[in-house]
Amino acid sequence: MIRDPVCGLPLTEPKDEFKADVRGRTYYFCGEYCKRAFLRGKKIAYFSMEIGLSNDIHTYSGGLGVLAGDVIKSSADLKIPLVGVTLVSSKGYLRQEIKDGKQIEHPDDWTPSTLMNELPTQVELSIQNRPVKVKAWLYDYQSPSGGLVSVLFLDTDVEGNAAEDREITSFLYGGDRDYRLKQEIVLGIGGVKMLDAAGFSVGKYHMNEGHSSLLTLELLTKNGKELDSVRDLCIFTTHTPVEAGHDKFSYSVVQDLLGDIIPLETMKALGGEDQLNLTRLALNTSKYVNGVAKRHKEFSLTLFPGYNISAITNGVHSFTWTCECFRRLYDKYLPGWANEPELLVRVDTIPDEEVWRAHMEARANLIRYVREQSGIQLDPNVLTLGFARRFTGYKRATLLFSNLKRLEEINNVGKLQVVFAGKAHPRDWMGKRLIEEIHEMKEKLNDVMNVVYLENYGLDMAAKLTSGVDVWLNTPIPPFEASGTSGMKAAHNGVINFSVLDGWWVEGCIEGVTGWAIGPSPKENLEEAERRRREVTQLYDKLEYLIIPTFYRNRDDWIQLMENSIGKVAYYFNSHRMMRRYASEAYL
Ligand SMILES: *Cc1c(COP(=O)(O)O)cnc(C)c1O
Repeated sequence: MIRDPVCGLPLTEPKDEFKADVRGRTYYFCGEYCKRAFLRGKKIAYFSMEIGLSNDIHTYSGGLGVLAGDVIKSSADLKIPLVGVTLVSSKGYLRQEIKDGKQIEHPDDWTPSTLMNELPTQVELSIQNRPVKVKAWLYDYQSPSGGLVSVLFLDTDVEGNAAEDREITSFLYGGDRDYRLKQEIVLGIGGVKMLDAAGFSVGKYHMNEGHSSLLTLELLTKNGKELDSVRDLCIFTTHTPVEAGHDKFSYSVVQDLLGDIIPLETMKALGGEDQLNLTRLALNTSKYVNGVAKRHKEFSLTLFPGYNISAITNGVHSFTWTCECFRRLYDKYLPGWANEPELLVRVDTIPDEEVWRAHMEARANLIRYVREQSGIQLDPNVLTLGFARRFTGYKRATLLFSNLKRLEEINNVGKLQVVFAGKAHPRDWMGKRLIEEIHEMKEKLNDVMNVVYLENYGLDMAAKLTSGVDVWLNTPIPPFEASGTSGMKAAHNGVINFSVLDGWWVEGCIEGVTGWAIGPSPKENLEEAERRRREVTQLYDKLEYLIIPTFYRNRDDWIQLMENSIGKVAYYFNSHRMMRRYASEAYL
């Protein structure tokens, strides 16, 4: 099937008048506009190891992938000419089962052919001196605004490939180091080749995290490009504020798997002397580099001094992350909000009772969902806290349970219930241990309060949770939360954030106005133990003296906080604002 290479629309009857011959190839377009855009304009190729677009395409593990999905959606809404490139991860990340309080992982297969079209084009790579064929599935995200963004899901499960190579794109973040590097070769190098072969004209390459930065080596070899011209083409968004979190490979492994794609000396100059560090490679080959929040930029500068790093704070796709009840409300009072989320700043034009009623409805939906999923009946009148994200050490899922006696006392002042969800990476023992601990706490508190753990966290569940609870809790250890995004989803539904001052919340929090901070400002230079002591104290004190009294005894103030969450947080922390900034600061 022929597709318009600009908007991606399938062309059942390609017309000669909308035909163009470029570089010895023939292209057909849906009309004059796309034809001219193609001849003049180029696409931004957005590379991400994971892209979370919908619940049934489970090729994501957490915030990085969900952000990438929101990038695609906002770009389509705003008609930013973008094309996504990712891996098909046909066995998914993992399906989580909880048994006796422990996580058990299962493959999470999905069938690309039921949701997307296979491209007729294939490309070939060399991995470990073996030819590896790569095919691609094309998924079109169509916006109600008429915009369209295509995403290529690369797949090595091609006939003729060696059995082990057919598995390269099976599991997201699965396997050993070699497996990881092979995936990164397919994503970076295979992605560039595929875009070329499929006829995309690319003006910029945007790397969402360092996983795809091998693409820059392909650009350097292709047409013998100079480093400067490659740098002009590349944009790099870094996400990881820990040195250990950056992908590194020994040069012997790199040479074994990748061969001599570029001279070793050049590779060392770009990727580091001792090991190939994919973050460093991306930093050295990108003209525009940014962190995902202002605080993250500052911290990245301490990890990588001497680089020019900007900050474009993350956002979430407003329409996706606003529940049905609030969509209706915004449609009525703030028409056009979905494509212009700034309008949420005018939330005060919505009557308070209607805000509360919408929240009650969202809460009832969550309570029903929790009962269906877990058999537990939450109390519709009790203050509900939500905590859901990847389970890994620094997110500190158990901080709320640091002092059970204090928590029980607070619960006597005003009742609480808590909903948890989240997956741990199969090899993250700390993350898995935290899941067990939550279940132990749940047992201990059995007669005191409802603690629910929902199995198999994913996009749909995230939407239910971030709209149906009253308070969204986040307790990372600073500075490890580069941005965080689920609190922004909560804000779109009038849910109030109660979070450690790290990542985006440093910018979002106005104490007592948009929510509450847990612990000191990152500007205060405290000993680890002292910071933690203050975090735990404030977590409990603010629950007891601010949050519970306001929720139970001062409904008007509570609704004002909800409206501030919408009008002072969601209006800004959305991916439309983020993509407009990428467009004007990084892509142009
Ligand atoms: C939004 C989202 C995340 C990211 O959550 P953080 O707040 O960044 O920890 C992770 N997983 C899913 C399924 C999400 O929807």
